[in-house]
Amino acid sequence: MPLLFRTRTLLLITILSTTLLALGAVIAGLLYRQQAQVSRTVRETLRIHREADALEESLIDLNVLLINRVEEVEPLHQRIETHLGELNRAEHTPELKELLVRVENSYVEYRHQFENLPDRTSADHDSALKQTAQLLNNKTQAYCTEFQSKSESDVDKASVRHGQVLRELAWGIAGLGLVAALGGMGLGFGSALVWRQTMRRLQIQIRDAAGKIGGELPTLVLSDSGGIRELDAQFQSLVGRIEEVVARLRQRDVEVLRAEQLAAVGQLAAGVAHEIRNPLTSIKLLVQGAATDSPGSAPLTREDLTVVEREVLRMEQTLRLFLDFARPPRLERRRLNAVEVVEQTFDLLRARAARSHVSLNRQVPALPIELEADPELIRQVLLNLALNALDAMPHGGTLTVRVEPGPEQRVLYRVEDTGPGLSVAQQDRLFQPFFSTKPTGLGLGLVISQRIVHEHGGTLQAVNRVGGGACFTMDLPG
Ligand code: ADP
Repeated sequence: MPLLFRTRTLLLITILSTTLLALGAVIAGLLYRQQAQVSRTVRETLRIHREADALEESLIDLNVLLINRVEEVEPLHQRIETHLGELNRAEHTPELKELLVRVENSYVEYRHQFENLPDRTSADHDSALKQTAQLLNNKTQAYCTEFQSKSESDVDKASVRHGQVLRELAWGIAGLGLVAALGGMGLGFGSALVWRQTMRRLQIQIRDAAGKIGGELPTLVLSDSGGIRELDAQFQSLVGRIEEVVARLRQRDVEVLRAEQLAAVGQLAAGVAHEIRNPLTSIKLLVQGAATDSPGSAPLTREDLTVVEREVLRMEQTLRLFLDFARPPRLERRRLNAVEVVEQTFDLLRARAARSHVSLNRQVPALPIELEADPELIRQVLLNLALNALDAMPHGGTLTVRVEPGPEQRVLYRVEDTGPGLSVAQQDRLFQPFFSTKPTGLGLGLVISQRIVHEHGGTLQAVNRVGGGACFTMDLPG
């Protein structure tokens, strides 16, 4: 699955899940707050109701004592006042508050009358006590009863509200569950859909690839019922088959290359036979001339021997090139400094360059560049390219060798000259065996060089420079 798809899907699922979670948390919080508030109201209303009950009871007790002319009622007064204090501290609706004020005012009025009762020995005492008891009964106790019944109806209302909130809570939880289930289903369904589409695309791509390789791959069957294990097994078998096909193709490549090489060797053998026939004829004529017994014959002179030596050297060079070409290079790779190879090549060239009035120019980066290659063979290529460049500048010029770091750690060698450059015909045939425009050229230098570069996994290309001259670029993996 592509990384981009994975990241996008993951992001979508995370956003949706987080939104659902946040929604759930908000709804749960709201419901909890409402429930807690209603519970508090119910508890408070019940407390007020209990307190009002106790106050009413105490007032009745007090009234009974007063009617029976019992005047030692201080403990009852204290109890009533404690209840009143408790009720005062509680939270009330405006209606209850007003009733409580009435209860308190009437109680204060009663206390005033009670404290100012005439002396027990006085004739008015009994009637004054009776009036006081009536005041307590008609006002304080009556208001208290009213307060009590009102608080009772508040308790009823609060418990109804409580029930309602509990029902809302139940609905809220059920709704939340439903939303979560639907969200989960939606996400699951969406992921399955995307996964299926990706699988289809993958299947098409694999079939396409199989078609390109030559239809030698088995068809990948993605059954709907098959799990990820089955899919994995199918992919594994597919990978196995691909590896087999690739190995077969590689083997075929090697065989084709070998066949091409053998054909080229045959062609070369004909060329070599042609090349060594001329020197051999010269040597044969000289030797035959010296070996006959005729009167005009003379022994070989120093000059004759020089010609023989030159012709033998020419044959040796031809044979060496033939062997180089016929034998595929055997690479002995090692880590080497790319610039050092250039310096060694320049050392070999200096004398010849001086003879042709060619100046040698080296353009290399300040930092060392390394590559894994066969130093002997790389030097051979650079030398071939540089000798060609010198051949192209018989009356002087500049030979520049550049070393540059390429993309993906590759190393580029550029061999540039200021000669006539390459004609279109030359460009077309540069890398063909026996193509040469030189009188004594064999036309194998570039072919051998290209073979060496290819063996290293690189490329060799030639272009004309903008300012004139040719530029050969060897591009090697680092
Ligand atoms: P040879 O040097 O034996 O001719 P090569 O394969 O080395 O064989 O070169 C083939 C031909 O490519 C040369 O004969 C020449 O025509 C052309 N050539 C190679 N390098 C250059 C160059 N720097 N400038 C112009 N022509 C070149």
